[in-house]
Amino acid sequence: MDLIRRQVAHGLGVSDGIAIGQVFLIDRRHVPINKVHVPPELVDAEVGRLENAIGRTTVSLERLLEHTQNQNTEEPLLVLNAHLLMVRDPLLLEMATRQIQDERKCAEWALKSAVRAIRDKFDLLDDAYFRERRTDVDFVGERILAALTARDDGVQEVPTDAVVVAHNLSPEDVITLLRQNVRGLVTEAGSKTSHAAILARALEIPAVVGCRGALELCGHGDPVVVDGRQGTVLIDPPDPVIEQYRSIAKSHAAFEEQCLAEADLPAVTPDGHRVAVLANIDIEDEVGSALAYGAEGVGLYRTEFLYIDGRRLPSLDEHRRAYRYVLEAMGPDRGVTFRSFDLGSDKEAAGVRTPHEANPALGLRACRLALQHPTLFRAQLRAVLSCHEGGKVSLMFPMVSGIDELLEVKALVKSERAAMQDEGLTPADVRMGVMIEVPSAVWVADDLAQEVDFFSVGTNDLIQYSLAIDRQNEHVAYLYQPLHPANLRALKHVVDAAHRARIPVGMCGEMAADPLHSAVLLGLGFDSLSMPNVAIPKVKWALRRLSQRDATALVDECLRERSAAAIVKRVRRAMEDQLPDLFG
Ligand code: PEP
Ligand code: MG
Repeated sequence: MDLIRRQVAHGLGVSDGIAIGQVFLIDRRHVPINKVHVPPELVDAEVGRLENAIGRTTVSLERLLEHTQNQNTEEPLLVLNAHLLMVRDPLLLEMATRQIQDERKCAEWALKSAVRAIRDKFDLLDDAYFRERRTDVDFVGERILAALTARDDGVQEVPTDAVVVAHNLSPEDVITLLRQNVRGLVTEAGSKTSHAAILARALEIPAVVGCRGALELCGHGDPVVVDGRQGTVLIDPPDPVIEQYRSIAKSHAAFEEQCLAEADLPAVTPDGHRVAVLANIDIEDEVGSALAYGAEGVGLYRTEFLYIDGRRLPSLDEHRRAYRYVLEAMGPDRGVTFRSFDLGSDKEAAGVRTPHEANPALGLRACRLALQHPTLFRAQLRAVLSCHEGGKVSLMFPMVSGIDELLEVKALVKSERAAMQDEGLTPADVRMGVMIEVPSAVWVADDLAQEVDFFSVGTNDLIQYSLAIDRQNEHVAYLYQPLHPANLRALKHVVDAAHRARIPVGMCGEMAADPLHSAVLLGLGFDSLSMPNVAIPKVKWALRRLSQRDATALVDECLRERSAAAIVKRVRRAMEDQLPDLFG
């Protein structure tokens, strides 16, 4: 009997850590609504019901927002604000009202139809991040529906040791749950960019998403263990297994605390080699947490989010306000690297027309788009060139494939600089760099190095392009291997080219965020590593304990291997020997 109950479900581990608790099921799939036509004399009253429900939803979201203000991370606030914008958006009310007035649908039915129509528009987008946002429309629709039907759809009180298992969770669910100190999250749906994943990471709750069949396998109250690193969910495991995980969780927590306590120390190896550890940020508000986690600067500021959030192009003032905020927060001793916008045909900026493309990842994005829209690009250049605050300002260009593109980009910088001088303005002294994230850039790195002040390797794209693995496609995710010999050899080529030209080289792809790779990146000779805030303390901790000499020897051995599996084995063995604490 026990053998049948004890099950392991697998999904995608999106937030590290181990959670041990009891299953708390939230299953609200297939909530039925009554579809009825209303008589003409009740049409106005039906519209009134809808307006009322939207009003109540707005108030409840505002309240939740108020209660969330004192979280030490901005992510929940951003999500709630986005939902508030959707609830207040007149389009939803207009569309639903039309359905009530023209087709005499009841408010619930009209609302569902309007939500579906808006959602369909998101389905047309190719970008996974934006496709994921269509679930926001659903979540907002469900909330209004709950208000309409007077059904309390919100999450109720949950026991203190709850591990929530659901098909999907709205951001409001996640925020409410995390306020109640839920231990872990498991969802059947979702990806790395789903809200449950983003929020769980930001709030450091172990989470597994894409865990198919979890609702069928789990019973309410079942003992459960969630391993957010491996992406496994153990349902009703035997007591000795629970005990084993309990001790792993304990040492995991103690280890994280130790890393955080040292986070402000520089990453200097025992043999005296220093690596700068920097933060990747998407929005200016993340800069506070970057500092709290020990960032020595910002190595990648994805400025395109300024364009994506709004309904129109950001003004010079808006750019400047965001940039100044980051620079001033970082202060005079820490640099900030702005990446010029990595917008593409699917990551649309309001007011910029881009074509529909079959393969947007290979299409008109980043610098290619910038060169086709020089006015748009120059507006951003002017904002960066107006930065006189803070420490060193750097600007880097994404998706450059060769020298011609780089020279064209540099010519635009030069002419914007000259235009500012003509207007009596003083352009800031800005270092210029290039992202190495297209395989062709790897092989012409020697030429590119002559033209810039630094390189930053974007492994997220570089691996996608050199191994031909779509970084968003879960079916080939197992082939996405940072330690593939082709990737290591490419990295070595880039680092050597940079150093021959006496310029520094950093990495800002996710590969840098995994401490398993720290020895390899140290041995390859990277001068800086930039990563999401929460990863900083552990990577610094690892670097402070690795010798550069040993790391160089390890890299020499790895470069002689023929298979990714052999390299992974070698690196794991070396890291387990040198840093057993890292593996708990
Ligand atoms: C990368 O490609 O590694 C990178 C850092 O850029 P992004 O993830 O924004 O494409
Ligand atoms: Mg990239």
